[in-house]
Amino acid sequence: MQKTIQLRVKPEEAANASHLVSILAQAIGQKQEAISGYHMLKQSIDARSRQQVWMNLTILAFVNESPSNRFQDKIEFPTLPNNAKEVIIIGAGPAGLFAALECIQLGIRPIVLERGKDVRARRRDLAKLNKEGIVNPESNYCFGEGGAGTYSDGKLYTRSNKRGSIDKILRLFYQFGADERILYEAHPHIGTNKLPHIIAAMREQIERCGGKVLFEKKLVDLVIINGEIKETITSDGDRFPTEALLLATGHSARDIFLLLKEKGILIEAKPFALGVRVEHPQSIIDSIQYHCAVRGPNLPPAAYNLVEQVSDRGVFSFCMCPGGIIAPAATAPGEIVVNGWSPSKRDNPYANSGMVVQIDLATAGEFLSKQHQNNHKLNSSINLADTLLLLDFQRYVENKAFEMGGGLQIAPAARLVDFCTNKISENLPDASYLPGLHAADMTSVLPNFVLQTLQEGFKAFGKKMKGYYTNDAIVVATESRTSSPVRIPRDADNFQHPQVKNLYPCGEGAGYAGGIVSAAMDGQKLAIAIASQLK
Ligand SMILES: Cc1cc2nc3c(=O)[nH]c(=O)nc-3n(C[C@H](O)[C@H](O)[C@H](O)COP(=O)(O)OP(=O)(O)OC[C@H]3O[C@@H](n4cnc5c(N)ncnc54)[C@H](O)[C@@H]3O)c2cc1C
Repeated sequence: MQKTIQLRVKPEEAANASHLVSILAQAIGQKQEAISGYHMLKQSIDARSRQQVWMNLTILAFVNESPSNRFQDKIEFPTLPNNAKEVIIIGAGPAGLFAALECIQLGIRPIVLERGKDVRARRRDLAKLNKEGIVNPESNYCFGEGGAGTYSDGKLYTRSNKRGSIDKILRLFYQFGADERILYEAHPHIGTNKLPHIIAAMREQIERCGGKVLFEKKLVDLVIINGEIKETITSDGDRFPTEALLLATGHSARDIFLLLKEKGILIEAKPFALGVRVEHPQSIIDSIQYHCAVRGPNLPPAAYNLVEQVSDRGVFSFCMCPGGIIAPAATAPGEIVVNGWSPSKRDNPYANSGMVVQIDLATAGEFLSKQHQNNHKLNSSINLADTLLLLDFQRYVENKAFEMGGGLQIAPAARLVDFCTNKISENLPDASYLPGLHAADMTSVLPNFVLQTLQEGFKAFGKKMKGYYTNDAIVVATESRTSSPVRIPRDADNFQHPQVKNLYPCGEGAGYAGGIVSAAMDGQKLAIAIASQLK
């Protein structure tokens, strides 16, 4: 007999398999010996009660029968025939890689062109970035094999469950090496240390089936005849005959937005969010969230999710990383961009999170106009119809963060209460950001409307989470690559660009995803559309 059962247990009970079996047996009304095994189907933490943290479990119990071999059915990838049709995929991020895997299942050969390096070579560039503050514009936290997803935090939750099969994405991550827990935890997480191996395993699968993944192949031009792409040209002069082009270059490929604009291919400005990253000692967040002095041994480092409306502007936490590290995510020298990640164990002593404000076209335009007026060298007026206006705004703030930082990738920072009261911190606490921090006048880094909204937001969060609003926390500028400031339009039914027939804008850079899972699902969806066009 098999029985699905829901349990609410203490963390120490969930962590002890034999104890759990005895609780299961009791719940089912059977002897402990009758439970021959179980599969965890769902697991979440409920920390709302001040007295006790609970684990909510959904378990499939096997009573007097052998447990089935879980997840034995693998997703198969066939070897492609020599005459398979080809699709050119630009970008080996989650959108590009999952599109490539889906293409193989559909009998289409993916040729993936990636501007950056493979995960191993990329690691050396990240070491240089962290230790010496040197940004390689082709190989960094955003560019290279696996895209921004490889050295990301690897949180795999998404709200976009209508866009595709989340299950299939999680199954593939598991099949390529992620822990089984991602299949049942409410907030699945892989961790930066594990992602590179998983990404490399995906690439090897693509190659084994007859697909190609080529590194240091940067798309720089397209040959378009009668509204159709005929050739894709890379920076080394190679030309790839093209029947279908899936463009999945991510939110940081500014040169791609410029290329499309220069070629008269329609793009649109897209509102995005910008702000700072805030870091607390993890112990503060644990004690607030778990209502205790010290986190128990069976609880994971606590997370939070905050949102507030300040006047008419939303301010919210973004990509919260318990036990994490603040990372330098710039893609060019002369700018400072921060983001966050954590290892699979989440065992760093800090908790960081983006804290960002919604940026709309009108306010960004007004802000940039004022800067132009104040700067006598720039007297051109701002055109609100400029599709790159929000990108210009994003770049302006990132350049300001660089100017107000301590040189190279040393980022401007302030203690949290000092930040909210416009003070330059006298000193800064220890922090996880490796390139280093510089106590700065944050009023000179962030536009006033962003600064004030964040300040009000932080004060409101301090009321929701007692102990959050503290000078033991640090604020680092600037969290600016939350999503793409540009959208590349596509038709709702065939997913092709309205002006260029065989161009398929995809993933986060094109404005159709926000995060690993939604980008991967978008890649799969477009692979299916391309297969039906090519066949
Ligand atoms: C530090 C960090 C932590 C993150 N943590 C999380 C998290 O925990 N959970 C989550 O869901 N998301 C997280 N993200 C965001 C997530 O990584 C992105 O949402 C996701 O990777 C977007 O996928 P994509 O394929 O659309 O684009 P990308 O991952 O950006 O990939 C685009 C690829 O295109 C390549 N490319 C660009 N231009 C060209 C060109 N001209 N020619 C050839 N190739 C080109 C780039 O090199 C890159 O490899 C994090 C990001 C970072 C940086």
